[in-house]
Amino acid sequence: MKRSTAAAVSLAAAIALAACATNPATGRRQLALISEQQEIEMGRQADPEIVASMGLYDDDDAQAYVQRIGTALAATSERPSLPWTFRVLDDPTVNAFALPGGFIYVTRGIMTHLSSEAELAAVLAHEIGHVTGRHSVEQLSQAQLFSLGLGVGMVVSERVAQFGGLAQAGLSLLFLRYSRDDESEADELGFRYLTRGAYDAREMPKVFDMLGRIGESRGSRVPNWLATHPDPERRAEESRRLVAEYPGGFDGTRVARDAYFDRIDGMIFGDNPREGFFEGGLFLHPDLEFRLRFPDGWTTANQRQNVYAVGPEQDAVVELRLAEEASPQAAATAFLAQEGVRATRTFRQEVNGFDTYWARFEARSGDTGLAGTVAFLEHGGNVYRLLGYGLAASWPPLAAVAERSIGSFERLTDRAVLSIQPDRLRFVQLSSSLTLEQFVARYPSTVPAETIALINQIGPDQRLAQGQRVKRIVNP
Ligand SMILES: [Zn+2]
Repeated sequence: MKRSTAAAVSLAAAIALAACATNPATGRRQLALISEQQEIEMGRQADPEIVASMGLYDDDDAQAYVQRIGTALAATSERPSLPWTFRVLDDPTVNAFALPGGFIYVTRGIMTHLSSEAELAAVLAHEIGHVTGRHSVEQLSQAQLFSLGLGVGMVVSERVAQFGGLAQAGLSLLFLRYSRDDESEADELGFRYLTRGAYDAREMPKVFDMLGRIGESRGSRVPNWLATHPDPERRAEESRRLVAEYPGGFDGTRVARDAYFDRIDGMIFGDNPREGFFEGGLFLHPDLEFRLRFPDGWTTANQRQNVYAVGPEQDAVVELRLAEEASPQAAATAFLAQEGVRATRTFRQEVNGFDTYWARFEARSGDTGLAGTVAFLEHGGNVYRLLGYGLAASWPPLAAVAERSIGSFERLTDRAVLSIQPDRLRFVQLSSSLTLEQFVARYPSTVPAETIALINQIGPDQRLAQGQRVKRIVNP
């Protein structure tokens, strides 16, 4: 509430100061509704939210590597003095995006699909192009930036979502579609920075080829970069034209395939089950050593900050997250002290050996009446908040369902689950040429052959060459 008011005020101030300026990167005159300082401020405010909701990939060397490459490319741009920040997100989807002010993100998912440092540089340089071209600034008002809706995954009644804080994970900003002109401009700017950074820009079309293959495959995951960057075939073609028309030549430029492969060797691939996974409605969390059964038939989602299930009518939610308070009692007190929340009954009742503070409550969110049950308990040094709630009118029959789910919280003791490990990317150097089929037979992976083809950027009929370093996915 506070935030959107502040944003509205500063947006009004920005409009009052509106001016038209020539963009140094593109030479275009742009309506500068938002000053550079405001642009940096927008990025600085959104960056911690991105990090909190998607998570950083836990590898300091990988982070430093991407930061170093990105910073060197950005230094060749027309806006070298922005607070350029490059991060690797702990996300299995193939994605990259930029925030205003020079904050740029690549996922570990896209990194495992790239095949050289020059390809990574091409992705980063493209995103730098969106920043120097001020594309998102043109599109976004601050009001939009700060009123991001529930952008992730699931349809929940907005009124229901807001109360539990589910809306905080809204990342619709990331799904911002740039115009086709903006994309072409970012490609041209990216090509410019790539060549200025002495990378072999002939690697750039390969990134679009890779995205195109992902688009053709019928994977279960939505490749997000593709969602915001459609038509990779046309862009591969355009970038090949940029290469053909480039007067400089590519002698002595850098591809750095082996250096890149050394860097991503061992990188986590796909979902990391240590951060929690579902078996049907049963949620298991090996790192935090608990399990919880969500109501049958509800739609579940595991996010960085919470895990939740939404009822079939989208009018009720059961959600688990860590509380910030130091004890279950303090957390319960703070919850019930929220404006508009009124406890109808509080009680202490054990849940599978955990001393648990329960409250049934009624609440108002805007003009919506809500009802629910919340429970707080401590496990392994963490205080957990288990919350079930829904629209007051439809809550009574769901209350028992939600409370049964909350009451299913228990210690995880299954040794096989506790020791589960994520899949990882590894390399095999071939001593002889192989077909893809022969490769997956000789060096089995935990993923289908089609995925092996994708991450190695080959078609199904293409042969793997003798001496080539080929990616596979293993579970150690
Ligand atoms: Zn783009």
